[in-house]
Amino acid sequence: MSISIDRNRCTGCGACNRVCPGNLLALDAEGRAKSRSPRDCWGCTACLKACRFGAIAYFLGADMGGRGTTLSVASTETEHAWTFTRADGGTRTIVIDRRTANNY
Ligand code: SF4
Ligand code: SF4
Repeated sequence: MSISIDRNRCTGCGACNRVCPGNLLALDAEGRAKSRSPRDCWGCTACLKACRFGAIAYFLGADMGGRGTTLSVASTETEHAWTFTRADGGTRTIVIDRRTANNY
């Protein structure tokens, strides 16, 4: 499991750092988020959901049929819009209602 952080989108707000259950994220000397230990990430996606700037993407590994696909999320107060981006650039978005997401 691993994430990537787009430095051009990262504002250095630190929200991802505060929610990572493994304390794996930190701000670097330039005030941008970075993973201190990518190999220890277990893909909980908490940091993706916490980032309001769409700066974090999650790699779906070959074991999950990912083949270069990344997962990102744009959140509002009521929805998470999860977008899968394939290696060829194709995308698919699934919108989840946050108010009912924990009912399943
Ligand atoms: S939550 Fe997003 S914008 Fe904020 S520090 Fe983390 S990656 Fe950067
Ligand atoms: S996906 Fe979860 S474990 Fe991995 S860096 Fe983000 S918050 Fe931490």
